[in-house]
Amino acid sequence: MFMQIFGLKTQVILGEGSLSRLKKIVSSYDRVLLLVSRSMAREGFLKEAEDYISEAGAEVESIAGISAEPSYEYVEEILPRAREFQPELIAAIGGGSVIDVAKAVKVFYDAPGTAFDEIAFFSRFQKPKPIPRLKTHLVAIPSTSGAGSEVSGASVLKRDGVKYNIVSFEIAPNFAVLDPRLPVTMPAEVARNSGLDVLVHAIESYVSKAATPLSDAMAVKAAEAVFSWLPESVEGNEKARENMHYAATMAGIAFLNGRLGLCHAMSHKGAWMAPHGLLNAILHPYVMEFNMREEKARFRYRKLAKELGMKDEKELLEKVRELNEMLGVPALNEIVDEKKFLAKLDEMSKKAYHDPLINFNPVEPTVDEIKELYLEAYKGK
Ligand code: NAP
Ligand code: FE
Repeated sequence: MFMQIFGLKTQVILGEGSLSRLKKIVSSYDRVLLLVSRSMAREGFLKEAEDYISEAGAEVESIAGISAEPSYEYVEEILPRAREFQPELIAAIGGGSVIDVAKAVKVFYDAPGTAFDEIAFFSRFQKPKPIPRLKTHLVAIPSTSGAGSEVSGASVLKRDGVKYNIVSFEIAPNFAVLDPRLPVTMPAEVARNSGLDVLVHAIESYVSKAATPLSDAMAVKAAEAVFSWLPESVEGNEKARENMHYAATMAGIAFLNGRLGLCHAMSHKGAWMAPHGLLNAILHPYVMEFNMREEKARFRYRKLAKELGMKDEKELLEKVRELNEMLGVPALNEIVDEKKFLAKLDEMSKKAYHDPLINFNPVEPTVDEIKELYLEAYKGK
């Protein structure tokens, strides 16, 4: 028997003004902890959310200014506030960073005896301790259109400039609210970086060893949207931003099930170099080319290319490169100091080789091959 599973824990609410749904969601809870990024407080969405929660009769405690690309230490700083307030529901308004912080807060608040070192995935050759049943519910309200964290079972946290995943169905949000008013204020660079992450999610999950026809359907639609809408979304077109907002969640559903691969393994382990989406965008063409050495991977890229109305896998790779170029994605050597890069290269390559996402990559790389890919991306050949 051959069996695969596709699932989605999160109820997704979408549409202009859908943030107001928070009022109905929180009506079954007494205490709500609200975690919000700086921009979402500035743009008035913190106040709007607080009002919905108060109108529903729940008590609200807000922590504004949650920072981007969070570390585990940062989560530890926030934990005492959560423990003191004792929320029944945590709501996160912001990009993938804020949602990932909320997921981690939920783990350590609900399971106080749990240590990051025991539950994070440090190596694919060593399974972490499973996360116990968690009681606090989670609402994710993304303000970027990229990470897909609003539906995923992952929280990505940095330690010493390297990212590690906590992965469990327990931390997948109960609700995701996709209100297209939120991403409207993204600066062009954030729209570009998070939007390019969507494309990497779609393509990596499609060629992954864990892909299913159901995750493929989400991946194809998400990739299609990126090619059609990302350039206009970066320019600030609101319709394009709305389409990208939904595409990000579709790609999230794709990788929640189909998982990711070598590009994310390398970007997590080189996280000190650039924001997540940008680093993925820089590395991805090199990873695609590497994977295309093997026919079984080429076949999957070709199949995706055809679904997207392209001739073959070569055209897909070309289109990915063109999009990077059109959107001004730099080579690594333009943004990262060479001495520092070379000093960290061996360690990054070894850690990427151990990253659990390698298990899903269609081709198994060696440490040396990963090192070569980092070097190629650095040179921008
Ligand atoms: P982000 O890191 O959450 O946000 C990037 C920046 O964008 C922030 O500095 C924020 O500024 C600004 N910003 C966000 N929304 C804005 C808006 N609407 N208007 C104005 N400024 C806005 O970006 P992201 O790409 O969504 O998330 C990246 C993080 O998610 C990385 O840490 C990555 O590793 C992680 N990730 C997680 C998963 C998962 O499944 N859990 C998947 C992929 C990536 P302010 O701070 O000033 O608000
Ligand atoms: Fe990503």
